[in-house]
Amino acid sequence: MKPKLSFAVAAFLYLVVACVAQAQDLPPNIKKIKEGIYVYVGNNFNSNCGIVITQEGVVLIDSGHSPTDSRVILDAVKKLTPLPIRFLIDTEPHPDHTTGHFVFSPPTTIIAHEGATLSMVNREKETPGRIEKLAGTSPAMGKALQGYRFVPPHVEYRDKMTLKVGERSFELLYQKGVHSEADTAVWLPAERVLFSASGIVVDQVNILRPFVTIPDILAASKMMKALNPEVVVPGHGQPGTVKIFDDTEKYYALLVERVGAMAKAGKSLEEIKKELKMPEYAHWASQERFPTNVEAAYKVVKSN
Ligand SMILES: [Zn+2]
Repeated sequence: MKPKLSFAVAAFLYLVVACVAQAQDLPPNIKKIKEGIYVYVGNNFNSNCGIVITQEGVVLIDSGHSPTDSRVILDAVKKLTPLPIRFLIDTEPHPDHTTGHFVFSPPTTIIAHEGATLSMVNREKETPGRIEKLAGTSPAMGKALQGYRFVPPHVEYRDKMTLKVGERSFELLYQKGVHSEADTAVWLPAERVLFSASGIVVDQVNILRPFVTIPDILAASKMMKALNPEVVVPGHGQPGTVKIFDDTEKYYALLVERVGAMAKAGKSLEEIKKELKMPEYAHWASQERFPTNVEAAYKVVKSN
């Protein structure tokens, strides 16, 4: 009996060591936020990717900033579970969330809000040679792009959709006018984890395209806060809490207030763009996007 017992002990110890080693093998970008829920946090505000493991397979939220990230994510998932990646939910159709689709699909089914495919097709038309250019940025990128195919979503939902995989439930919530043509927040009600997409970012000035409005962003913020999430994973930036939404609301309130005061003093939009300073947010990244924020705030002021 004795040798058998020590064999069992040895086998157990081996298993423990193997598990620890496996956990250590994960890339440093991977953060565990709950049991079976991980986030690959993009370097330097690159896009994030959620990895949610269920009893019936894996669900990804976004595919990584670029195909080099997608390949690291695929390897990490293989270390975490032998189960297949069944679904990939796009929080938006922009290339920094979707170029890596081909790394996962087939067999993965890709889901996005209505309008995502059209946005992706238009982007391909507007930027010919995009993939060749990306492949030329580094040998690693060239290698990661091998086998590239344009893979649009397989499923487009409207407004709201519930996806059930294994023991988990994913609520897909459309957000109008916050960042792209098809923004989706992904809410896991049982786990109270929210993937909040890119309408609201962290420690960074967001780009507000002409169809994006501050009232729409604030409405999305309110809707997401009302879910009462415990963990909020933005499309870009460090995962956090609902403080992300509070910070955003404060920023836009101050911006609209200052633009309003300058407009009232008779300044034109061009003058405001040149003169307005927000020293409280000077440490935020992507300051070159600030004029788009002023334009959106000016629209709010003029409509009041
Ligand atoms: Zn984007």
